[in-house]
Amino acid sequence: MKAIVDCNSFYASCERLFKPALNGKPVVVLSNNDGCIVSRTDEAKALGIQMAGPYYQNKAEILKNNVAVFSSNYHLYGDMSKRVMDTLRLLAPEVEVYSVDESFLDLSGIDANKLYDYAMFVKQTTELWTGIPVSVGVAPSKVLSKVANRLAKKDKLGTKGVLILQTPQQQMEALQKTAVEDIWGVGSAGSKTLRMFNINTAWDLRNMSEAWAGKNLGGVVGVRLVKELNGIPCIEMKDPLSKKKMIATTRMFGRAVFELKELKEAVATYIARAAEKLRRQSGAAGAVSIFLVSNNYQSQDHYAPSSRSAYVALPSATYLTNVLIAYVMPLVEALYQKGSKYIKAGIILTDIVPCAMVQYNLFETPESAASQKLMHIIDNVNFGMGTDMLKFATAGTKKNWKMRQELRSNRFTTKWDELCWVK
Ligand SMILES: [Mg+2]
Repeated sequence: MKAIVDCNSFYASCERLFKPALNGKPVVVLSNNDGCIVSRTDEAKALGIQMAGPYYQNKAEILKNNVAVFSSNYHLYGDMSKRVMDTLRLLAPEVEVYSVDESFLDLSGIDANKLYDYAMFVKQTTELWTGIPVSVGVAPSKVLSKVANRLAKKDKLGTKGVLILQTPQQQMEALQKTAVEDIWGVGSAGSKTLRMFNINTAWDLRNMSEAWAGKNLGGVVGVRLVKELNGIPCIEMKDPLSKKKMIATTRMFGRAVFELKELKEAVATYIARAAEKLRRQSGAAGAVSIFLVSNNYQSQDHYAPSSRSAYVALPSATYLTNVLIAYVMPLVEALYQKGSKYIKAGIILTDIVPCAMVQYNLFETPESAASQKLMHIIDNVNFGMGTDMLKFATAGTKKNWKMRQELRSNRFTTKWDELCWVK
């Protein structure tokens, strides 16, 4: 059996944790630049506030109902996520972190008649140790465990946040209650196709033949989905030790950027952030891509976003921020078009290899001990004293382009000067 543990309204729950006065009250969290609503508590959902709805469209409703609003506080969410995942790793033999607030657990070793008690123990321990409420779905396959989790969340009173789909009867009832749109991995395009065939619930889909799924639902993917719904596991647990093969940092700017200098600052800042992640997994990148997104006036109030990108393969893989910056700056210069209105930029590190396996060529010397030490010191200082305490000058000092986060709460768990005060 497999379990999926999913944090309830994760970002909003992180906010509520440090403001207990908000318990039982509606809370929403906004996306980058305070654009859209990305997390809602049950109380906010009950008011009809839509997921991914633009903030400005919901503002009247939010003010009227005294909804607490927060900008995204990724330092806080990242740290709370780590605490939840660390807890799960202590409780289960095998954990696959699936997203910032969800993990699959392999329950192969657990006695069939102890599954409920175990799942409840995982839920209660996680909540006790981290303060973040979670729901647990348990079933023979990943897709079914997601179905279970969703139903556990929807009926928190009835299920106490834990649902086990063990018997055929339990599975049938759960699948009949699940619309095709709500199946993990189906998406809106997929569900339209299914509805055309008059397949409306997960139960309808489960009863289709594998041959039919192969023909009508994109081959192997469709067959796998039908098998998973039948409780036959096809999507295996991923190796928790596998490291990212690609590291990307992309952000919207807080305001439009026109100057090359500011664009370079932003890209250098993103490189520094990505290189830090790269060093954390002891990797070195063999290539870098960058892209710049502009939104230029065409005619009659019409703006057209367009993206330009460039790629450079490095002579040998590296994790040194300064080397990466030096290779990428000419790309920014080449892509930059004077007069363009830039709204977003991003960098992607690829061809990642373990640092120990970097191949040097005749003309390249391995990273010198001094540069390695420098990176180590920068990472330590920035970790202990705050992001960007030490940085390369190319990354700029003013950062007027940085995203808007006007309603951000304190970074309670990662910054000494933003600790929670208890009166
Ligand atoms: Mg969640």
